[in-house]
Amino acid sequence: MKLHNSNNTYILFALFLVFIAASSASLAQNTVIRAGHLFDARSGKVLDNQIILVKNGRIAEVGPSVKYTPADTVIDLSNSWVLPGLMDCHVHITSNYPYRKYNGIAGIYATESTALRALRGAANAKQLLEGGFTTIKDIGNDAEYATGDVIKAIRAGWTVGPTIFYSGKIIAPYGGQTQSINSEHEGLWKMEYIDADGPDEIRKAVRKNIYHGANVIKMVSDDHPAYYGVEDIKMAVDEAKKAGMKVTVHVMGGEAARNVIMGGAAAIEHGFQLDDELLRLMKEKGTFLVGTDLSAENFYGYGGTLENSKATEAMIVDRLKRAYRIGTKMAFGTDVIIDIEGMNRLQSNLKVLQTWKKAEIPAAYILQTMTIHAAELLGTEKSRGAIEPNFLADIVAVRADPTKDIDAVGGVHFVMKNGKVVRNEPLVKP
Ligand SMILES: [Zn+2]
Repeated sequence: MKLHNSNNTYILFALFLVFIAASSASLAQNTVIRAGHLFDARSGKVLDNQIILVKNGRIAEVGPSVKYTPADTVIDLSNSWVLPGLMDCHVHITSNYPYRKYNGIAGIYATESTALRALRGAANAKQLLEGGFTTIKDIGNDAEYATGDVIKAIRAGWTVGPTIFYSGKIIAPYGGQTQSINSEHEGLWKMEYIDADGPDEIRKAVRKNIYHGANVIKMVSDDHPAYYGVEDIKMAVDEAKKAGMKVTVHVMGGEAARNVIMGGAAAIEHGFQLDDELLRLMKEKGTFLVGTDLSAENFYGYGGTLENSKATEAMIVDRLKRAYRIGTKMAFGTDVIIDIEGMNRLQSNLKVLQTWKKAEIPAAYILQTMTIHAAELLGTEKSRGAIEPNFLADIVAVRADPTKDIDAVGGVHFVMKNGKVVRNEPLVKP
């Protein structure tokens, strides 16, 4: 009787093992991508006929002869160009100002609620992800932390979107980036800015943003005659560093930009007026340029003349050329807050590529600023920005060779985010 009981136990245990084996076999089903052409972000070269094995959201193996089993799901991208997920290091997903009727940054504070801004942000986040941008850096101008709520909604699975690096409110000298607000409405800008004059106020502002979900710190320096000094920037950099975060600063050029570089900020946003000496100093210090290289068409959306828009674009083309020649580190960023008439946010953002083309920057290098270089600036270079073993499986595919013509990135037909397929349209041959 005793022996019989123990036999039953053995049988039950054996059945249990079979069950465990069966369930781990189904868990072990992997995704295999057959990539006809694969962009190697590290070398800037295209490799043909590669196989990517994706396991548990990460890339397990890449190469021409990776083994897989019939149980694995195979995605055939043998006629496509496969790239790491794209990154945009300067977006404002919750902002959209009326086309050619821009009347200052505070123009929407009284008419649009934070809730409405969050809904717009969620829609733009989904559109950017489906357009191949699997990581974005949203740096402020989002009402009362609306982007923070978009991030929560994505995490909860209510909507889909990219990985979002997020700054919270912009830290700036008194008044933020507003002008001519009358004294009866003093502080209206606090919807999107934290007034911080001097190192102590800057420390507090950094802590506030971190409390409200920021993982990058954004400052604005030279929109005021009283721009930040080296000590101001240094305070933000030191305080952010304690939380493992980086500081990025809106600055155009001159002494204000020098202070940003010497204060140890990770990046300069815009830098439209950086001279060669400052671009060289950035190279020396490892400061990134997120050039937000808006095209004439983007500038025209603000309401100025076509002539002025073209002149501003020409200035940016010249700065891009010089930065490339000097070897200043660059990460791609767009900064669109006005959708071009008849275009959505993704299409308006991609217009920025026209400026890069006019500056004759090689397409493979532009792709690196959108992948591996952007990942370095964002501090995620060990897990995103390349298609390599152990990296998160953020993978996109386009219909034509983007190293020949960068405009091909506008033709994304496949998107995988953290190993999950977000979009997979069959490739229709023209
Ligand atoms: Zn911006």
